[in-house]
Parts: sequence; C-alpha cells; structure tokens
Amino acid sequence: MTDPTSGAAARLIEIQDRIAKAARAAGRDPRSVHLIAVSKTFDAEAIKPVLDVGHRLFGENRVQEAKAKWPGLRAHYPDVELHLIGPLQSNKTKEAVELFDAIHTLDRPKIAKAIADEMQRQGKRLKLFVEVNTGEEPQKAGIMPAEAGAFVAHCRNDLGLDITGLMCIPPVEEEPAVHFAFLSKLARECGLAELSMGMSSDFEAAVELGATYVRVGSAIFGHR
Ligand SMILES: *Cc1c(COP(=O)(O)O)cnc(C)c1O
Repeated sequence: MTDPTSGAAARLIEIQDRIAKAARAAGRDPRSVHLIAVSKTFDAEAIKPVLDVGHRLFGENRVQEAKAKWPGLRAHYPDVELHLIGPLQSNKTKEAVELFDAIHTLDRPKIAKAIADEMQRQGKRLKLFVEVNTGEEPQKAGIMPAEAGAFVAHCRNDLGLDITGLMCIPPVEEEPAVHFAFLSKLARECGLAELSMGMSSDFEAAVELGATYVRVGSAIFGHR
C-alpha cells in the first residue's frame, strides 16, 4: 500500500497545498486551478502511489509512451483524465483521440483539421488548447502570438472546434511571469477562459497570473 507521508504522493499533496495558497493570495478560488501530474518517463509503479491518494489528472508528452502505460492503469482507475501536453504528429491523431481527454498542443491548421476529423469519426470531444510560442523561438512549437487570434477563429469557425484555452512554455532563460501575463491577456482577447501554464519551477507565478491548469512533473515524481 501507498504511504501518503513520503515519496511522490506526499510531494503531490504538498504541491496542491502550495497551489491553493498561491490562488488564495491572488484572490482566486483554489478549485479553479487544476494540477496535471506530468508522469512522462515514469512507469506504472511510480504513478500508482499518486493514484492511490486519489489524484486523477495526469499529463503525458508522447502518444506511444502513454499508450504503453495508461490502458493498464485505467483498468484499475477508470476515472483518470489524461492530457497530451507534448507535440502531436498527424499520423498519431487517431491514437491520441482514442487515448486522451485533452490536447494542449494545437498549433497549426493541419493538426487542428486532423483532430476535428478524428473526433467526428470517433464521436468523442476532447478539451483543446492552442499552444502559443510566446517567446517567438524559431525552434519551438506553438503558433506565433500575432497569428493566435486568427488561428483560434479558424478552429472555431471553419473546423467547428470548441477551443478551451491557451497554453505556453516560456523560454528557459526568460522571466516566466512576463509570458504568463502575456498569455493571460491573449486569452482574454480571444474570449478563452482556460490557461495551461506553469511547471515545477514556476507554477505559483502562473497561478498568480491566472493559470487554470498547471503541468507539474519533476516536483512530484522526481528528476527524469
Ligand atoms: C515535462 C513537461 C512539463 C513538466 O515539467 P517539470 O519541469 O518536470 O514540472 C510541463 N509541460 C510540458 C509541456 C512538459 O513537456
């Protein structure tokens, strides 16, 4: 059995506590912030203690890895909610729509169209976030900020997608709060309520600036 006073389960509870404190300090309802436990690279044995303390929201960044781990875990924990937080290739769309409840990385018309078609085919609706390359880094995924509004409109009007919110991964060497504030403003302009932002090193700043989903991996499961 899981010992909730040590290891990943204890760290998860501690992170939830810090999220709640950061939310209250910002005058927000702590229940408006969802903690995605990012379990990439960790196996089922490492994930189970976190499931055993009642956590159900998890993130993975690779379709193949998630497919190897989660169907088995879901047999025992059927109410798990699984979010894809890594890049999606269009040839993996079918598997991604089968496996995940949300995708955080819509960033181009081709992948948006593939997801729309596949959701229709499977009769399944996922929560969808548009990833914005807030640092405008050439090598990085995400739509450029100047194109975000038009892309969200295209997803909604031409593809019939119900976009949930925006997501970003700030450049490592920059102050993340600047990017969180920027994403928050962009979401307001697009009329989107949800913000996926903040990781192990900066989730409290993200909560302060309006994050509704924080994606925390190493602070829960340990170093990768
Ligand atoms: C791995 C990953 C995270 C979690 O990062 P940590 O620093 O381990 O908390 C969050 N978001 C994305 C997109 C990731 O790939």
